[in-house]
Amino acid sequence: MLAHLRNISKRALPRRLVTQSASYSSSSSFLIDQPEYSFLKELGLERDNPGVYSGQWQGRGPSVTSYDPGTGRPIAKVRQGNVQELEQTIGLALEAYKQWRQVPAPVRGEIVRQIGDELRKYKEPLGKLVSLEVGKIYSEGQGEVQEFIDICDYAVGLSRIYSGQLINSERADHSILEAWRPLGVVGVISAYNFPNAVFGWNAAIALTTGNSVLWKGAPSTPLVSVATTKIVADVLRRNNLPPVVTLCQGGTDVGQTLVADKRVNLVSFTGSCQTGRDVGVEVQRRFGKVILELGGNNALIIDESANVKMALDAALFGCIGTSGQRCTTTRRIIVHEKLHDQFVKALVGKYQQLIPKIGHQLEAQTLVGPVHTQQNVENYKAAIAEAKSLGGAVAFGGNVIQRDGFYVEPTVITGLPHDASVVHRETFAPIVYILKAKNVDQAIEWNNEVEQGLSSAIFTENIGQAFKWIGAKGSDCGIVNINTTTNGAEIGGAFGGEKATGGGRESGSDAWKQYCKRATITVNHSGELACAQGVVFNVE
Ligand code: NAD
Repeated sequence: MLAHLRNISKRALPRRLVTQSASYSSSSSFLIDQPEYSFLKELGLERDNPGVYSGQWQGRGPSVTSYDPGTGRPIAKVRQGNVQELEQTIGLALEAYKQWRQVPAPVRGEIVRQIGDELRKYKEPLGKLVSLEVGKIYSEGQGEVQEFIDICDYAVGLSRIYSGQLINSERADHSILEAWRPLGVVGVISAYNFPNAVFGWNAAIALTTGNSVLWKGAPSTPLVSVATTKIVADVLRRNNLPPVVTLCQGGTDVGQTLVADKRVNLVSFTGSCQTGRDVGVEVQRRFGKVILELGGNNALIIDESANVKMALDAALFGCIGTSGQRCTTTRRIIVHEKLHDQFVKALVGKYQQLIPKIGHQLEAQTLVGPVHTQQNVENYKAAIAEAKSLGGAVAFGGNVIQRDGFYVEPTVITGLPHDASVVHRETFAPIVYILKAKNVDQAIEWNNEVEQGLSSAIFTENIGQAFKWIGAKGSDCGIVNINTTTNGAEIGGAFGGEKATGGGRESGSDAWKQYCKRATITVNHSGELACAQGVVFNVE
């Protein structure tokens, strides 16, 4: 099987891509100049794009070239912002906030509704750009934009119903009110793997609750940032609004300056645990607010009673979807010892069927696209070498695919101890470690022993095990699923995780409260002053 896999490189490539790859060596042109990529122009992109928006477009920092991970070819360029431009943009975002906070919440919701409608118009080309720039397959690119549209709909409804409460006072003729007020400027720093939806989750809710938004996208997905901001900016312009959404593309220097600036009241950071820890400490240093959405090391547990057919499908999408680059990707499968061997065999059989479906992310038949950069390939190789050195057996895959772009074989590794260093680390690539457990109690213990606490799922038909899993002695993650995948969350629930995943929550449920400050208001309508707890304090 491994020998077979080693030969899949050119043979499995769709014909059109083979031609593209061959022509690449003789051409240095940008994809945006080619007729088949005209969808990029529909989004208002050009070969060279300014990457800063604060009512006007500019960009005086270093220029970055964005590459197609599926071929390694350049798509177009973006001129990033420098630190001075970021500082000016924060000032403009603050001024915009001062006007925006006076707009009634349902009217703010109407603007978000228009943003959602505009996204519907551009869903096809924008989703294709997400695929092209990240490396995720066509349907996942479309799905990502759909997620932004969905959260806009959610935020429109929220704008009419988010509310405080009236609390009983212990003092006669007193009332206690609780109200939620906007924070000010919300800084959004996003990761490369969800370059559109993460901004969308934050922006839709932050705008509806009365904040302005300043976005810094990942340096390797700048075209999605620019194209998305153009769509939003057009809605703001048509409504004669100040720049309540701003963008400053940039690298670490821009990110660090944004995080340290006191004028940014909330920093919503999505990225690795390592960077997130620094961001969290820095924001706390200035007593700012922070939402941390960091890495995961998500386990799928297969109980003795599981519906194995369904669990196999969940494992396939969980481990390989987005080529293993979702924060919620299944990285460990913990299988009951009675099912272990048959499960591994059946999963490997499914992986085998995917071989002809490895290809360029925009080809119609592709289910497994490239990883994002050469760095992901290096991390993949290092994890496999480490797994082997620790006694792991490669049951499927394990090799880099030799072709233009960044392709690796989806990989299954068995036989490692549950607490091996490589098993406890998040490697952002399609590698899964299958572990054999005695029972659900042991599986829960292993699920919980890693540093991260994002997503988890159990497959079981046993109601007792299911409720143990969701109870206090169960999974310690933010997402605790039963009979479905670890990845692919909907917008209606609060999204995020515990421990080294950072503790933040975004999207649905009451996550909107994170974008607000809470005011507790005691109103005395008695005509006399009375202290709480019966304290007497006067001089008559
Ligand atoms: P990353 O941490 O390398 O970068 C994330 C963002 O932080 C980028 O915009 C980057 O430019 C910026 N940045 C880097 N250093 C910074 C600093 N010192 N101060 C401020 N900003 C800085 O992450 P990545 O490789 O782009 O994304 C992959 C990681 O993101 C994975 O760990 C994944 O699990 C995580 N992720 C988490 C979620 C979630 O919701 N929990 C969602 C998507 C991705």
